[in-house]
Amino acid sequence: MQELDSLKFSNKFADLPEDFFHKQSWTPFDNPRLIHFNKDLAEILDFPKNLDPKDLVPYVNGNKPFKQSAPLSMVYAGHQFGSWVPQLGDGRGILLGQLQTKDGLIDLHIKGAGKTPYSRFGDGRAVLRSTIREYLCGEAMYHLGIPSSRSLIVIGSDEPVFREKTEFGAMMVRVAKTHIRFGHFEYLMHNKKSEFIPILLDHVIENYFPELKDSKDAYTDLFEKIVHSTARLIAKWQAFGFAHGVMNTDNMSILGETFDYGPFGFLDDYNPGFICNHSDHQGRYAFNNQPSIGLWNCHALAAALKDHIELERTKEIINTYEKIFYEELTNIFRKKLGLTEIKPNDLKLTEELLTWMKINKKDYTNTFRALSKTDIYLFEDQEGKLWFDKYQKRLKDEKNTFEKRKQIMEKSNPKYILRNYLAQEAIQDAENSDFSKLYNLIEVLKNPYQDNENFEDYAKAPPDWSKKLEISCSS
Ligand code: AMP
Ligand code: MG
Repeated sequence: MQELDSLKFSNKFADLPEDFFHKQSWTPFDNPRLIHFNKDLAEILDFPKNLDPKDLVPYVNGNKPFKQSAPLSMVYAGHQFGSWVPQLGDGRGILLGQLQTKDGLIDLHIKGAGKTPYSRFGDGRAVLRSTIREYLCGEAMYHLGIPSSRSLIVIGSDEPVFREKTEFGAMMVRVAKTHIRFGHFEYLMHNKKSEFIPILLDHVIENYFPELKDSKDAYTDLFEKIVHSTARLIAKWQAFGFAHGVMNTDNMSILGETFDYGPFGFLDDYNPGFICNHSDHQGRYAFNNQPSIGLWNCHALAAALKDHIELERTKEIINTYEKIFYEELTNIFRKKLGLTEIKPNDLKLTEELLTWMKINKKDYTNTFRALSKTDIYLFEDQEGKLWFDKYQKRLKDEKNTFEKRKQIMEKSNPKYILRNYLAQEAIQDAENSDFSKLYNLIEVLKNPYQDNENFEDYAKAPPDWSKKLEISCSS
């Protein structure tokens, strides 16, 4: 495929010392087939316009090499559910390299690639179910406006892969700004390789924060950027009702992107204690724990960087996490309520609405969406009416017309989110080679803020059967 040869991979990570990775190719499936190709993303990546996605399959499957790529598996470590694991790494992933886009460098990574030196007890594979879930959620987040990795292509196979039941292997190309995680630094620090930490810090600054190059204390400045982007990201998760499910430090991107989708879930009814991961028995990663876990993870990163960042400033930076988080959260909630003036009690007003939703078991997404459309029907009970009166009083401080306010609200309160049962239905059919639901869902998720009469069903609160769905770490 000559067209694909025009892709200009650079290999900035592969240029680092060998202690950071294992150079290798990956294990192809015998009968790979195209499941889905993300044309929109391919355009952003400047893939050849006339590319037939079927021609990409042998490259993704590992039968043909991408010219100039330097495939490798990365080594990292991490805190998993609070416990230290000294060595993890790409147990089923291969970093191909970076492409330069108008938005900066972008990593391309194969997930489900087969065994690597870091596979531990795993088979190196990913299954179609989890690959589709990751694809769908990357799209959902991107179109909602939440920083996230995305997927370029999914391929399936007839290779049996054993999870709770026998499933089929799949691979996808994950596209993210970086695959460097908090756990990369933890690995170096806690495995007596701390002399490599400045090398990795310099690499991050050079490639992602060149503005810090001449700074007097660039490493601490970088730490600040990481802490703040993490706080802002998690504020977005909270505002959109997204639960990640496995916020281990090895799943935390240093560039504040949502990353490594497993048993994630969006809230249906507003239940702040929602645990999306069926394997999370303690609820460590419950929805309402995410902000403090984000901070915990920043502490773990600070510990890994301790010999390279300035202690007093580090403490100050850690202390700003909460402020940055609440600033971002309040800003988003203001938009969700159509408020443009800044008033001190705005977050409290939202919290009171959330309490009402919790007590009355209201659907999180649909309640905000309904509020963007109409005024009163939501609030038939006394508490609801009281809240609504307060809201009306607060609106008197606003200069916007009703119409203008509704416009702001419709752009801030999605109608369509990736509800678990929608993903589940699409996956069940896809496992039987019927991809129509999957393709429809992908279309729906592209315009989450726009009413579409053909897609009314996708906005409904979930049916009862879906409440029993259990999503575990198995993927
Ligand atoms: P995750 O829960 O997907 O973030 O994965 C945690 C760690 O386990 C990472 O080091 C993964 O590469 C590794 N891992 C997950 N699934 C597999 C698998 N099927 N085979 C090998 N390694 C795996
Ligand atoms: Mg992971």
